[in-house]
Amino acid sequence: MPQGVIIVSYILATILFILALKGLSHPETARRGNLYGIIGMTLAILATVMSDRVSSYVPVILAMAAGGSVGIYVARKVQMTEMPELVAILHSLVGMAAVLIGFANYLDPTAVFEGASKTVHEVEIYLGILIGAVTFTGSVVAYGKLCGKITGKPLLLPARHWLNLGLLILSILLGKWFLNVESIGVGMIPLILMTIIAFAFGVHMVMAIGGADMPVVVSMLNSYSGWAASATGFMLSNDLLIVTGALVGSSGAILSYIMCRAMNRHFLSVIAGGFGTEGGAPAAAAGEQGEVHPIDPDETAELLLNAKNVIIVPGYGMAVAQAQHVVAEIVKTLRDKGVNVRFGIHPVAGRMPGHMNVLLAEAKIPYDIVLEMDEINDDFPETDVAIVIGANDIVNPSAMEDPNSPIAGMPVLEVWKASTCIVLKRSMATGYAGVDNPLFFRENTRMLFGDARDSLDKVLGQLKH
Ligand code: NDP
Repeated sequence: MPQGVIIVSYILATILFILALKGLSHPETARRGNLYGIIGMTLAILATVMSDRVSSYVPVILAMAAGGSVGIYVARKVQMTEMPELVAILHSLVGMAAVLIGFANYLDPTAVFEGASKTVHEVEIYLGILIGAVTFTGSVVAYGKLCGKITGKPLLLPARHWLNLGLLILSILLGKWFLNVESIGVGMIPLILMTIIAFAFGVHMVMAIGGADMPVVVSMLNSYSGWAASATGFMLSNDLLIVTGALVGSSGAILSYIMCRAMNRHFLSVIAGGFGTEGGAPAAAAGEQGEVHPIDPDETAELLLNAKNVIIVPGYGMAVAQAQHVVAEIVKTLRDKGVNVRFGIHPVAGRMPGHMNVLLAEAKIPYDIVLEMDEINDDFPETDVAIVIGANDIVNPSAMEDPNSPIAGMPVLEVWKASTCIVLKRSMATGYAGVDNPLFFRENTRMLFGDARDSLDKVLGQLKH
């Protein structure tokens, strides 16, 4: 294919990727955004495969068939609740690809560079492998933490900041050595040593991060995978990969910033680790904190029917129970009866950015009643019933009231300020951050125990009665 056509295809693909990002920024346009992304990626792959740099189609087709089949299989099999883990493990593949391409580039006998361009090329290789290796192991550990295979408890080694600083200085020194050697054989020594250090750093960095900071880490690794792809683009002199990587890298960085703000955390304190504890632990004995007031579905329906203003706060448990469709039916029934029902969405609810919005959109809940935390938090005092569906950390008053709480300072939805707060969950267990929740013992809190979908099915039955 002529070079001009390839360049035009790349520019078109870049525009489509930018339009995709724009579309994905709102649920109403997300479907269109996704379509732009698919068309852009198809164009990018076709243009790349048909370029002069591809000398044989057989390995390309075999690799695409193998990768594509695995991708289709995984995408069909994955449950909605496993999406965050899938995203994390996919980031690790981008990281590994950057590492492998970096080594292949360095060992490529046809790549002959002199003087300044040699230095630039080697810096690209070194940085590409460094970022790729950190992304790879960091994402694998994040995957383990998100699916519970690795404890959410932060691993806090003594003098860990010195250890990180030592690894950084060592990587810089190895980089200097790498740039100063002439022979590829010798150059491989600092390159391999740095890769091992970067692998170790990725593991250490994410292991040190507590459960409560995981949202920031997921988006941070997303950003790293973009920068790794961008570095790979520089190595391969592929403009589209540079731009696409930069788009992913910068949007991931912006998302990390938004997540940090949502958690009221500084980015550097996140990296330093230690926020939140181990997840899923049983809470302290009820008697220590006060009385628990259970409620049944019939009483819940009664309270809802008598309410004027209702705010629903969904969390990870709604995703687990797949309760969004019955929630949608309840909302419709109540709105038909004149009740003002709205949703309050915490930025880190669920296990991935936008998790709740995706579920609510899937159940066709009107977007205009789905509000962000900042938009709705002041309205709880005028609310008759706040229903918390499978959420825990994001409605924990100790974040605001107890300076010693492991999640102190994190903004939360102030559901306890409603006249009555109904919490749907199966037990008294803690949420992802592993922190006890005094909300469950408040005077105006009612606990509706059981799987959220079962409970809501019964509430709906009663509402329609
Ligand atoms: P939490 O994990 O704090 O709480 C979820 C609650 O849902 C649990 O306490 C659980 O209680 C309940 N639950 C689970 N299954 C069901 C079910 N079938 N029916 C009813 N209830 C159920 O979730 P939140 O959404 O409140 O908070 C999100 C947490 O995840 C935060 O700590 C956040 O930092 C973290 N996180 C967020 C990410 C993001 O990007 N959004 C990424 C990674 C982590 P029980 O077992 O008693 O039923």
